[in-house]
Amino acid sequence: MSVPINVTRSALPPKEEYFEEIASLWDSRWLTNMGEKHQTLERMLQGYFDAPNVTLFTNGHLALEGLLAAFGLTGEVVTTPFTFASTTHAITRCGCKPVFCDVDPETYTLDPTKLEALITPETSAILPVHVYGTLCDVEAIDAIAKKHGLKVLYDAAHAFGVKKDGVSAACFGDAAMFSFHATKVFHTVEGGCAVYRDPALREKLDLGKNFGVCGEDISEAAPNAKMSEFHAAMGICNLRRIEVYIEARRQAAERYRCNLAGVPGLKLLKPQRGVSSNYAYFPVVFDGAKYSRDEAAARLAEQGIYARKYFYPLTNHCTAYGFRGDETPVAKHVSERVLCLPLYPELAPEDVDRICEIITE
Ligand SMILES: *Cc1c(COP(=O)(O)O)cnc(C)c1O
Repeated sequence: MSVPINVTRSALPPKEEYFEEIASLWDSRWLTNMGEKHQTLERMLQGYFDAPNVTLFTNGHLALEGLLAAFGLTGEVVTTPFTFASTTHAITRCGCKPVFCDVDPETYTLDPTKLEALITPETSAILPVHVYGTLCDVEAIDAIAKKHGLKVLYDAAHAFGVKKDGVSAACFGDAAMFSFHATKVFHTVEGGCAVYRDPALREKLDLGKNFGVCGEDISEAAPNAKMSEFHAAMGICNLRRIEVYIEARRQAAERYRCNLAGVPGLKLLKPQRGVSSNYAYFPVVFDGAKYSRDEAAARLAEQGIYARKYFYPLTNHCTAYGFRGDETPVAKHVSERVLCLPLYPELAPEDVDRICEIITE
């Protein structure tokens, strides 16, 4: 049998380039605590996002917790369950209550037409999730947030490199969190960042990722969530070739689209007007196809191809929180039928064709 194909395969720069990037650390012996690589990567990201305020974190999850804490959010946060557990965890771990809004049946992101009904006097913020490289309806969400005086924090873990009318996904709402986990479009092995409008948040976020250490005092009981120099160096190398990675993903995604468009019962993501995607994932919704999502996943697995059910189960179905999950029927419908096919820069065209044949035969 041929080599297994997983849903993703981490992109890496040439070894020599990374070694060269980290070589200076043997001289400086400055391995973490906001060193030179950390500062360089923050600056590079500010340029890449065209956003003034970027703070690096050890992972995306702690960047999100850091943001919730820095904004001092309390009470209820409206979010969606069609996401990775991290989003909902961050809300509950920061002492807030997640309130689940259903998703739009085309974009799988928070449905703004269902948002206002969920806002109560307890609501402090909205935490929508961009999924698969598709953006939320940022204008509609923004208008509702303004009307009710709510903060908007985006989980942009899937949206690195996505732009709408030339504006980066980092620049919508009051803040956005990105994950730089090894499986993401841009990665630092483990890592993440917060991007935010208000420069006054910088100090809070810097304290919030370093135990609250403030000179000789400790100002709060914050965790350790600093990005190391080795991780930042990986980010510097990967950011240099991000356009190459996204273009390779685009080609694989276009090939899937050509092969699968028009197949009865298979629903593909629709391109969004004015949005340049990062092709982070290639989800297929099996709705009335010859066989179910689970059967398709099993057939692929027999051939050593491991697609993934993102996002299944919904976070409002996880035992961690004790919700019933019936409040979001659209999200439930999609979650039970969606399968993300393998997609990464080095995925060969023949493999895309083979995967499509297995699904459609
Ligand atoms: C990956 C991911 C996270 C968490 O990021 P980490 O860097 O792994 O902590 C949060 N939300 C979504 C939607 C993700 O895909």
